[in-house]
Amino acid sequence: MLAIISDIHANMEALQAVLDDIAARDVESIVCLGDVIGYGPEPCECLELIRKHASVTLLGNHDFAVLYEPENFNVGAEAAAFWTRQQIETESSDANRSAWWEFLGALEMRHVKGNGQADASPTVFVHGSPRRPVNEYIFPDDVYNNASKLQGLFDRFDHLCFVGHTHVPGVFVETPDFYTPEELEYVYEIDPNHKALINVGSVGQPRDRDNRASYVLYEPDAVRFIRVPYDYEAVIEKVLPIPELDDYLGFRLREGR
Ligand code: ZN
Repeated sequence: MLAIISDIHANMEALQAVLDDIAARDVESIVCLGDVIGYGPEPCECLELIRKHASVTLLGNHDFAVLYEPENFNVGAEAAAFWTRQQIETESSDANRSAWWEFLGALEMRHVKGNGQADASPTVFVHGSPRRPVNEYIFPDDVYNNASKLQGLFDRFDHLCFVGHTHVPGVFVETPDFYTPEELEYVYEIDPNHKALINVGSVGQPRDRDNRASYVLYEPDAVRFIRVPYDYEAVIEKVLPIPELDDYLGFRLREGR
């Protein structure tokens, strides 16, 4: 069983709660779909934990922004990216600083993994989409507004593709249709004859109006959506005194949006 996490966004409380939840289960390894940093108050601590615990970590658009440059970011997100870069740069330990930059610089954009069965299609993991792995958003509304976009995305993988990026968990099927975790009673039964594009949601900044951290367990026959409560008030207390981080980046955690 694999745990798939995404969009931690420098939220240590949420990440620690999710790692504790994972540790209590029979998980072989953790795949992180990116955006370890950006928005939140503890980027260095999160980089360190993810480096230790995830066996694969992909490049998200916020990781890219801190490493290279922000692309299409709003004012608040850009300020957060520059503040995050400064936190890494002003780390007192040379060893930590170079380890974090090296880790960020080596992140893959796309990961493909077989499931051990020779006849089964490999599973694809990206931050955004199978077409533009770092930056493309796949929204539930695309089912109604942009069916051809979805078809173009489904054409780019053979069976299952896991994504993050929108912070909205759920399952897209080729019909096209979108199912929220609630609609699926938190379990998607894997159908060998149908493709599915699965958004694992966000650990550190959920946006589906559920303020609990989100991740999934990928079992041979099913994908299980997990929600983990964490102390978001403690995170808000850390965001408010940092002028470069908009207060809203704290308050939105309370509402999960
Ligand atoms: Zn994100």
